Amino acid sequence: MTGRALLFLLFVAFAPAAYGDRMTYEEAKQRMNPPPLPEFWVGDVADLPARWEQLRVGKCEVIATSPGGRPLHLITYGEREDMPRRANFNSAVGARNLADYLDKEAREKPVIFFVGPVHGHEVEALTGLVNLIQIMETGRDLTGRERGELRELGQRCRLLILPAGNPDGIARFEPRTAFGMTHAEFQFWGQGTWSDHRIAYWPDSKREHPRTESETGFLGCYFNDAGVNPMHDEFFAPMSTEAPAILKVAMQEGPDLAVSLHSHQAVPVLLRPAYVPLDEQQRVIALAEYCYELYDARGLPHGKPFTAQAEGGPRPASFNLTSALYHISGATSFTFECPHGIDDPRACQVTLEEILEIQLTLYQAMMQFALDAKAHQTDQHD
Ligand SMILES: [Zn+2]
Repeated sequence: MTGRALLFLLFVAFAPAAYGDRMTYEEAKQRMNPPPLPEFWVGDVADLPARWEQLRVGKCEVIATSPGGRPLHLITYGEREDMPRRANFNSAVGARNLADYLDKEAREKPVIFFVGPVHGHEVEALTGLVNLIQIMETGRDLTGRERGELRELGQRCRLLILPAGNPDGIARFEPRTAFGMTHAEFQFWGQGTWSDHRIAYWPDSKREHPRTESETGFLGCYFNDAGVNPMHDEFFAPMSTEAPAILKVAMQEGPDLAVSLHSHQAVPVLLRPAYVPLDEQQRVIALAEYCYELYDARGLPHGKPFTAQAEGGPRPASFNLTSALYHISGATSFTFECPHGIDDPRACQVTLEEILEIQLTLYQAMMQFALDAKAHQTDQHD
C-alpha cells in the first residue's frame, strides 16, 4: 500500500468522526443513558441556592448574574486579611515592587481560588467543589465519609470557591454527567452543533465566538446563554459577565494559587499556563509533581508534568482565563483537566467515585502546596 493510499484509508476511518457526524437535539435526547447518579453527584445548578441557605461556616455572595439570569455564587472560608494597596498588579510589576499591589507574604493564611466549571458539561468539578463545601461545613463529604484531614488543611487557608463558573451552560446540560457517553455524544453536549446539525468538534467549536443563532443548531454547554465561552471572553473588553466577575474576585483577593477546573476524556492533568513567567510555570510543575504522587499513592491515574516554555511557533497557545488570572492578581494559576469517564478506547476509564477522589486529591495537593510555600516564606523571614 502506498503512503498516500494509507493516508486516504486513515482519513476515511477517522474523518467521519471528526468532520461528518450529525446529531439533532432530539437524537441526542433519545441517546441519553446516564447511569443512576449517586447522592454525592452534583450535575445541576437548580438546587444550589437551597444548599447555600444551609451554610453555617462559609459565607455566600452573588458575584454576577449570567446572561440567562442565573446567579454566580462565591462561597468563602476563612477571614479575609485586609492589606494596604497602592497599585494594581501590573503597575506593581512595573514598579518592581509586588507589595504595592498586595504584600501576600505578610498574610498569615494562603489564599486559594477554586474556579468551578466555566464549561457547563464539565460538572466533575461542580461535584468536587460542592463536596469540598460540605467537608468544610461538616468534616464529611456527601457520601458521609469522614474527611477531617482535608477540612483541617482548608481551615488553615482562605478558600474562595466558585462552584459554578457558567451556570447557563450547566443548566443546559440535561444528562448531568458525561459518564458513559460516546465521543460524539460528549462533543454534542459540550461543543454543540452547527446549523446543519454537524457536531462542532473541538477545537473548531471555537471558530465562531460568540456563537450566533444563525450558525448554531444546538448551543453546546461550553457557552453561556449569550454564546460566550468564558475561557475565551475578551478580557480587555468583556463580552459577558462570568469572566469579568471571576477576574474581579482575583483582583480584589490576590490569591496565592488559582485553578480553572475543567474536564476532558483523558487522564487527570495540570496544564501549562500560557503567557506567564517561566518561574510561575515551574511552580505549577512542582505542584503537579506533588499532586501526581498523591494520585499514585491512591491508585488514581494521571498525566505527566509539562515542560515550561515560552510562547511561540505558528500556532501559539491562546491567552485564556487562566492567563488572565495571573495577570490581574499574580496568582500561580493553572488549568486542571479531570476525566469524565467517556466510553471510548482513547478515554481514561474512571468511576464516578474515582472522579470525586481525583477532585478532592487535587484540592488537598493545592492546600498543602500553598501551606508549604507559606511556611517556607515564614522561615526565610525568621
Ligand atoms: Zn473545559
